[in-house]
Amino acid sequence: MICSYCANKAIYFQRYSGKKLCKKHFIEKFENKVLRTIKKYRMINRNDKILVALSGGKDSSSLLYFLNKYKDLLGIDIIAVTIDEGIRGYRDKTIKYAKSLTKRLNVEHIIVSFKDRFGFEIDELHGNYCDFCGVFRRKILNMISKEINTNKIATGHNLDDEVQVILLNFIRSNIHNFIRLRYKKVDLFPKRIKPFLEVSEKEVVLYAILNGLKVLEDECPYVNNVLRYKIARFINEIEDKDPGIKYSILRMYEKLLPHIIHLDRGNVSKCKICGDPASRDICKGCELLIKINKLKL
Ligand code: SF4
Ligand code: ZN
Repeated sequence: MICSYCANKAIYFQRYSGKKLCKKHFIEKFENKVLRTIKKYRMINRNDKILVALSGGKDSSSLLYFLNKYKDLLGIDIIAVTIDEGIRGYRDKTIKYAKSLTKRLNVEHIIVSFKDRFGFEIDELHGNYCDFCGVFRRKILNMISKEINTNKIATGHNLDDEVQVILLNFIRSNIHNFIRLRYKKVDLFPKRIKPFLEVSEKEVVLYAILNGLKVLEDECPYVNNVLRYKIARFINEIEDKDPGIKYSILRMYEKLLPHIIHLDRGNVSKCKICGDPASRDICKGCELLIKINKLKL
């Protein structure tokens, strides 16, 4: 198999485009696509100071690698932040890798833990792990971003993640989350960006491997989103037979969105306690902290 763009041996067949790619051209096409996505959604402006949420997994490690490579071209500053939720046997490994990667790339790195900030670890909870974990991860990122003065938060979400969430909310008939995946009633600050939005998980893995990044196989012991896994498997099955289906789900969602935003009737205001966006008087994070007695009013 010869590369469609040069005489080198191809290492990847991109089914939806019909192109065969050598290592050099795979990396070039991948990076160009991410740069185009950044431009198309106006994710990044010159002089942005960006917090990169680095878990140490393949997506966020690849994102940090990419943003570091292009930081001068984009005219941005980056700083990596890793959150230790307190999940023993799992998070320890990814944190260790996050440390070695930021050292190798010479990127400033901050590690913050749930324990230090909120006084508890995910391991100490009973059930509802992912609810707590997601809410507090978001909360900590906002806190740190304010403390270190970054105006954007970049996460490693890829095309597969986005399409899974679109279908998940569709299937669950959650119109509120379906709309708010993209449309925010108030401008969030710091703004969230997903530069890998239009590259598939498979291509992120290959990008990581080709650039000598580690692809950790471990999974969080608490992961329990069964429906999401079923959806992921289902999408991959149809993508296999009908390449390009992930893009077409994403495009359909984007076409539909302007026509349905009026269906989102929920309120958004600021949390009375911390100032984060909230749909009631206090935000979900503060509400949960009160519930587990970590925050006294
Ligand atoms: Fe947190 Fe759930 Fe993800 Fe584990 S699977 S890291 S508990 S959100
Ligand atoms: Zn709050």
